[in-house]
Amino acid sequence: MRLVFLGPPGAGKGTQVKMLSKELGVPSIATGDVLRLEVASGSELGKLVKGYMERGELVPDDVVISVVEKWLKGIDVKKGFILDGYPRNVRQASELDRMLRELGVELTAAIYLNVPEDEIVRRLSGRLTCRACGAVYHVEFNPPKEDLKCDLCGGELYQREDDREDVVRRRFKVYTESTRPVLDYYREKSKLLVIDGVGGIEEVYERIKRAIGL
Ligand code: AMP
Repeated sequence: MRLVFLGPPGAGKGTQVKMLSKELGVPSIATGDVLRLEVASGSELGKLVKGYMERGELVPDDVVISVVEKWLKGIDVKKGFILDGYPRNVRQASELDRMLRELGVELTAAIYLNVPEDEIVRRLSGRLTCRACGAVYHVEFNPPKEDLKCDLCGGELYQREDDREDVVRRRFKVYTESTRPVLDYYREKSKLLVIDGVGGIEEVYERIKRAIGL
């Protein structure tokens, strides 16, 4: 299975990708997590992308394209993989097709988690993220067992800067303008699977598994 996950910020991509990648035994990458780690480390790349991320804008295509390309070249793409948060625009999607063509494989499907905007705002305002491993929780819908501590690795949970309401609005606008056209890109290639992303984590997970024939 070679999959990409699409959907607005807060649709549940990170949570579902982590569960599915574990069950399928295939590697996954979240470009947002990679970029956040770069910012935290203070690297040259981190300095370059920090401003874009804080404003809720897309970082330049060349940066993310090279991150994804390097990662794909380091794994066995024939055994499968999942991308979370990439592609975010049509250029990134067509560059992904080029990379996969060069590696001699094809994408299996693009999974679109469909969640309406008012539900997104509700989710993001209560979202907590693990500083160490990137796992996500929600103060109300998916609380950690211990306050502000990750169930999986014990890391510190915090509210992402870009989960503030004004930045969430910007990210939603960027999503509507840049990422929504990616849906048509995959629909035209008959690779788009639309999943209703409203509901419990397990419920949505079952829908995804059914859609990909698991
Ligand atoms: P995420 O964790 O997926 O919500 O991503 C957080 C932020 O990282 C986004 O708002 C962008 O600034 C940046 N980012 C992540 N993935 C991409 C991508 N594929 N293209 C451009 N920017 C990205």
